[in-house]
Amino acid sequence: MALERKQHLSKVKRVVIKIGSSLLTNTSKRTIRTGFLSHLAFQIKALQQKNIQCVVVTSGAIAAGFYQLKLKEKPKEIAQLQALAAIGQSNLMHSYVQTFKKKNLNVAQLLLTWDDLSQRSRYSNAHNTLNELFRYNIVPVVNENDTVAVEEIKFGDNDTLGVLVTHLSESDLLIILTDTDGLYDQDPHLNPKARLIYEVDSLNSDIEKNATSSKSLVGTGGMQSKVKSAKRMMQSGIPMVIANGKLKNVLTRILNAETVGTFFYPTHLKMNSRKRWLAWGVKSNGEIRVDEGAQKAICDKGKSLLPGGIRSVEGNWSAGDVVKIIGVENQEIAKGVANYSSSDLDLIKGLKTEQISQKLGRKSADEVIHRDNMVKMDYF
Ligand code: GLU
Repeated sequence: MALERKQHLSKVKRVVIKIGSSLLTNTSKRTIRTGFLSHLAFQIKALQQKNIQCVVVTSGAIAAGFYQLKLKEKPKEIAQLQALAAIGQSNLMHSYVQTFKKKNLNVAQLLLTWDDLSQRSRYSNAHNTLNELFRYNIVPVVNENDTVAVEEIKFGDNDTLGVLVTHLSESDLLIILTDTDGLYDQDPHLNPKARLIYEVDSLNSDIEKNATSSKSLVGTGGMQSKVKSAKRMMQSGIPMVIANGKLKNVLTRILNAETVGTFFYPTHLKMNSRKRWLAWGVKSNGEIRVDEGAQKAICDKGKSLLPGGIRSVEGNWSAGDVVKIIGVENQEIAKGVANYSSSDLDLIKGLKTEQISQKLGRKSADEVIHRDNMVKMDYF
């Protein structure tokens, strides 16, 4: 842990605040908690006055739709959930607009799917949009575009979306606000003796095991998806905090480096934007399995992937798509932009680079994946 918590927090100029459905909606009254939103706006205003820009990742669209239709149980079918999100999202944004306005804050709505960001150019467009919003001092409020998101293009939960938005907005901290005080050593719902963990500087399997997926009536991810997000943040060199959104002035207290919630230290150096996008912003289209020699060249020597070390090719992709590189123990060792399509690669796998043009009648590159277009995932 090179820097202390306080040092990390003193550097924060931009922060992403992820708000869970259970904080935003009142399960007994079946309404959006405008009191919570109003205190959130108050804290964001205070942060802005300290020159800290804020992005909100909000949940609650499905829950708001669910309450409006007065349903007793959360439906399971995707089309039903999508309809609820469409109903609830506008109510939710209306509440944000109204309550933030009272604190002299303007908000903007961004609805994203994974698919939108998997093209580097669209990712850059979204990044530019966010920058413009900051220039106007507007608070971006982001949610998943649930209406169009089907399984393949879904983030699945807003904890994952929070990670992506932190990278996309070039923020220095992700705060996940939930209805518990942070990460416990055991499930506090099952064991009253469970103890809160104040700081995490490496993720061991115990922590991951203890993070249960028990959820509130309206939430999606539970602690498991929060720990998964923490792991990604730590690896990308950015700290994260899980804290109780019901605590008064929780955001200002976190940024004042008070011991609130669980603080996750970055374990790696900050990656550049392109590598972060490659690692976590884009889904892969297939897999390349490599032999031990190629694995060592990539992991230990920082080399590019050449056709000689490829054992097999799985999936269907075109040149320019992002694929995973799988090592000898079946682990993902890297991700990168392939210079050859899956069908071309199937023909040249195992060959020497000099043999590529002979086999294909052309050669677009010596490397199947160039080092500059690759990110190592060896710490997974
Ligand atoms: N996008 C969902 C909603 O707004 C929430 C997903 C989540 O809470 O993780 O209702």
